[in-house]
Amino acid sequence: MKTIYLDNNATTQVAPAVTEAMLPYFTQKYGNASSMYPMAAEAHHAMERARAQVAALIGAAYPDEIIFTSCATESDNTAIFSAVRAYAQKKHIITSKVEHPAVLHPYKFLESQGYKVDYIGVDANGRFDMDQYKAALDANTALVSVMWANSETGTIFPVAEIAALAKEHGALFHTDAVQVIGKMPVNVQETKIDMLSLSGHKFHAPKGVGALYVKRGTRFTEFMMGGHQEKGRRGGTENIPYIVGLGVAAELAQKRVSDGSLARIAALRDRLQAGLLSSIADAKLNGDPDNRVPNTANISFGYVEGEAILMHLNEYGICASSGSACTSGSLEPSHVLRAMGVDFKFAHGSVRFSLSEQTTGEDVDKVLEVMPGIIENLRKISPFSRMK
Ligand code: PLP
Repeated sequence: MKTIYLDNNATTQVAPAVTEAMLPYFTQKYGNASSMYPMAAEAHHAMERARAQVAALIGAAYPDEIIFTSCATESDNTAIFSAVRAYAQKKHIITSKVEHPAVLHPYKFLESQGYKVDYIGVDANGRFDMDQYKAALDANTALVSVMWANSETGTIFPVAEIAALAKEHGALFHTDAVQVIGKMPVNVQETKIDMLSLSGHKFHAPKGVGALYVKRGTRFTEFMMGGHQEKGRRGGTENIPYIVGLGVAAELAQKRVSDGSLARIAALRDRLQAGLLSSIADAKLNGDPDNRVPNTANISFGYVEGEAILMHLNEYGICASSGSACTSGSLEPSHVLRAMGVDFKFAHGSVRFSLSEQTTGEDVDKVLEVMPGIIENLRKISPFSRMK
C-alpha cells in the first residue's frame, strides 16, 4: 500500500539532494571544524557555505547572523532566555496563546519566576488580537515572541506589524518561523525582526538541526555554554553533516518559494479542503480562510473523535494529525483550537492535513474518496452524535 503522507507540518521527508550532500561529511570529510588540518578546513568551509545558504533563505544581511542549533526548540529557548538576560531590569514579556510548547513552556517558567506575562488571544479564525497586543505593550516589555504561522491551522500572523510595534516600545522581537520556511517568502530585513527560529526537519533537512537568526547588534547571551563554537554563541562541536543538509534544504526551500511550487501545493490543498467541506456534513475549516500557509488545511468533523479518524485513515496508508490528544482517559482538545473558541464537539474531531511538494493529485483523490465513509461510520457509533 502506498503511503499518502499528509503530515508535513509535523516533519518532512529528507530530500534526496540533502542526503547526498550530507553523506561525504560522515565518512570522508569528518573533521572537527575547529581543528587545524585540511580535512577540518573542508568541514569548516562546508559549514560556512551552509550558513550563507540559510542567511540567503531568510534575507539576513550577514551570514554570521545565523547560529546553528540542534532544533527549533533550542533556538526558541535560546532567544527567550537571551532576551530576558539582556534586559534584566524589564520584567514583562508577551507571546500568544497559540504558540508551540517550545515558546509557551519557557514563558510559563519565566512567569513562575516572577515575570508578568501577557498571552495574546486569537479570534475564531485564529487571527492575532492586535488591539489586545497594543494594550499590553509598555516600556517595561523586554520581549515579544510571536510565531509567524500556526503549526496547527497554518494561520499567518502579521509579524511585520507586530515586530514594528515591539520595537517602538523598546522590546526585542523574536519569531518562531518554523512553519513558514519554504512556504512563503521570509525577509528579516524587511521586517523588524531581532531573532528568528527555524527547524531543518520541517523543510526536508533531517531532524536534529536548526538555526537561530540574531540580528547584528542584538544583545545576546548564549544558552548552551561550552566551547568557542559559533563565535562563542553556542557551545558544542558543530554537527557538520546535518548543517550541510540544512544548507542544501535552505536552497531548495528558496527555490520552492519562487518557482511556482507553492501555487501547485495551494491548489491541491484547496481542492482537498473544498472536497471535504462539500461532501461531509458538519465539517468546518479551522483557521483563517484567506491568510494561511499554502500547505495546511485543518478541518473539524463534528461529533466524532479526531484520533478515531486517524486510525481509520491509517488503514488506507494516509498519515495526518489530530488536534486532540488523548491523555489519561480524558480527551483534551488542542490549546490552539481552545484559544479559537472552537466548540468542543468540533474541536475533538479536528484533522490537520499538511501537504508538501511531493503530494500528488491522486493522494488528494484518495482522501476525498475514503473520508465521507469513515466519518459516516464513526458518527453511527459516536457518543457525541447524540449531542447533536
Ligand atoms: N515551533 C513550531 C511552530 C513547531 O511547529 C515545532 C515543531 O513541531 C517546533 C517549534 C519545534 O521544532 P523542533 O522539533 O525542531 O524542536
